Formats: sequence, C-alpha cells, structure tokens
Amino acid sequence: MTADFEAQLRAVSLRVTRPRLAVLAALRDNPHVDTNTVIDLVRAAHPTVSHQAIYDVLQALTDTGLVRRIQPAGATARYESRVGDNHHHVVCRSCGAIADVDCAVGHAPCLTASVDHGFVVDEAEVVFWGTCPDCAAHPTNH
Ligand SMILES: [Zn+2]
Ligand SMILES: [Zn+2]
Repeated sequence: MTADFEAQLRAVSLRVTRPRLAVLAALRDNPHVDTNTVIDLVRAAHPTVSHQAIYDVLQALTDTGLVRRIQPAGATARYESRVGDNHHHVVCRSCGAIADVDCAVGHAPCLTASVDHGFVVDEAEVVFWGTCPDCAAHPTNH
C-alpha cells in the first residue's frame, strides 16, 4: 500500500515524504476524520511529525486532489482519501457521524439539475441529513 501512496504522490508531482505517506495511510484507515483526529493518528505512529507539518500535508493533498475535504454546514471539516467517484455523504445532526453514500446512478454528476442555466455540470454534491443508528437508539444522549 505504501507503494500505492508513493505512486499517487508522484502522479500529482508531490515529493514522497514520511508525513505525506502517514496522512494518506491514516485517512485510508479512518475516513471522514477531522484535522485534530488526523494529527492524533499520525503522531501516534510518528511522534516527531509536527502539527504544522500535518496541516501543511492536508493542505497540499487537498490542493492536488488526493484528499477530499468535506465541510457539512455547521460542522468541522473532515477529510477522506476516497476521491474522484462523486460519492455523497449522510450526516447525523446529533453527533456529526458521517457515512458514504454511493453516487445514485454510478457516474458523475449523479443528479441532473432541474435547471442548469447553461452551465456544463460535471459534479453534484449532495448531503443527506438525519439521525445515525446510535443516536436513534439513545435519543436522550443528545
Ligand atoms: Zn449520531
Ligand atoms: Zn466519503
């Protein structure tokens, strides 16, 4: 898998560095985590990597499209390494849990805009809001 990450980094002309490999590995194993969780995960395995280095890595990986930043309204930004498949997300209003929802028709833009105003639409980003099973089972916790 490390070889895959190295190929991904080279494909977008980023140098292969230990912090970049560590962030990609953390996101592969833990999708939809926020910045602080990424920092905790990376530093648990690589204590010498600084917070700032991890911020910089997340920025570089997001800028080059290797990592996707998800920002549900009113929630902290989350990151994932599943990119390029136009999938969507379901978000719990109570606890902020996020899960993947596959593209409804299997290809971008997934949904056809009722009015496209002449734009060439190539992507649809849909957020489904609701209550996750944990919160539904324990409504008094929230
Ligand atoms: Zn929940
Ligand atoms: Zn996702």
